[in-house]
Amino acid sequence: MSDIEFLEAYDDSTGAALASGLFAKVFGSDPDGVWAAPGRVNLIGEHTDYNAGLCLPIALPHRTYVAVHLRDDMRMRVVSSVKPEDVVDIDLEGLGAGGVKGWAAYPIGVAWALREAGFDTVCGSDMAFVTCVPFASGLSSSAAMTCSTALALDGVFGLGFGGTDKGRITLIDAAVRAENDMAGASTGGLDQSAAMRCTPGHSLRLDFRPGLDAIDSATQEPFDLEELGLELLVIDTQAHHQLNDGQYGQRRSSCERAARELGVANLREVADEVEASDDPQIALARVLNRLDDETTRKRVRHVVNEIGRVDRFIKAFASGDAREAGKLMDASHASLCDDYEVTVPELDVAVAASREAGALGARMTGGGFGGSVIALVARGESRAVACHVAGSFADNGFRTPRALVAVASDSAHRVR
Ligand code: ADP
Ligand code: MG
Repeated sequence: MSDIEFLEAYDDSTGAALASGLFAKVFGSDPDGVWAAPGRVNLIGEHTDYNAGLCLPIALPHRTYVAVHLRDDMRMRVVSSVKPEDVVDIDLEGLGAGGVKGWAAYPIGVAWALREAGFDTVCGSDMAFVTCVPFASGLSSSAAMTCSTALALDGVFGLGFGGTDKGRITLIDAAVRAENDMAGASTGGLDQSAAMRCTPGHSLRLDFRPGLDAIDSATQEPFDLEELGLELLVIDTQAHHQLNDGQYGQRRSSCERAARELGVANLREVADEVEASDDPQIALARVLNRLDDETTRKRVRHVVNEIGRVDRFIKAFASGDAREAGKLMDASHASLCDDYEVTVPELDVAVAASREAGALGARMTGGGFGGSVIALVARGESRAVACHVAGSFADNGFRTPRALVAVASDSAHRVR
């Protein structure tokens, strides 16, 4: 059995000390405060957000910490522990979309987006970031960065949005805009909502139906793994996910095309109709028959079935039926592999090996094409399952994976 590295989360006092330490070293003074925002895993409901569907993230205990000091001019200086010698220094005055390149586009983009939204009180600041969220592994280090930044700016400039769920929606919008328009990364709001709205012991049911009030679009669902004697193992396959090579855009546009062909605004309408019928499988078959192209039929079948699985998963957890929850995870993965075709061999091997080692269910999480896998395992079994996955990776000649244990944790908060 191969060994495997487990990534431990920093506790808040460690995260705050590290971020403050980096701040003092680089900028030569103490910060005004330290804020944190978590990475996330999506339990089920993949590639459904842009189809007006449902998804179900939890916040990870792994967070990005940012130490901040406000300035009395319009300069923004940012540094990250990942590359502490690289201090990015930008003037917010006159900055436009796409005006910052590289990682600094994420935090600077948030200040820019808040100013674009009319919050002129947001001026210059110095920021130092440390993180224990793995990068580009589908666990949303980018939203951990933009959301910690948004909450920090809200704090130092006294915007007053961070204290309520409703207020946080303004901060989520700025974080999304930073990723889309400054960093050039397509993101639909799942990651930022998770980082800003999740609560400990719960998953966050996010409903992307248009027209729904942002407050009503999120509900807290019980997700107490300990009570059920379970753990959620996350395997970072180290096959770095790449959504920028056009695959994500292709999936999106084939869903939009299918909706047009079916005469609906989005595939959620199809999912709701199928779910409400007497025999959902027959209803779905009838819909698919109306589409000419086999690939499009497969994409639609994934989206409709996946949206349906989200509420079944919530119900399974609420009634303590871990076996059913595991089966739904397996079905989700099979659908993402066969119908949506967004898995890669590393994801499929990690899922298969997790099951072989006794997981109740396993699936890829995030956009696919690399990234991470989650497995529902009995309490205390995470290491054994992860080691088995590492062994299978070695047999297949893949890079060594990494692991962490996920517990449904808190959203963004002030630490110091
Ligand atoms: P994910 O969000 O799943 O981790 P993304 O590709 O969306 O993957 O975001 C990863 C990018 O976010 C990194 O390549 C880097 O540019 C930026 N990033 C996130 N966290 C940090 C950090 N702590 N320091 C520097 N850059 C970061
Ligand atoms: Mg991201």
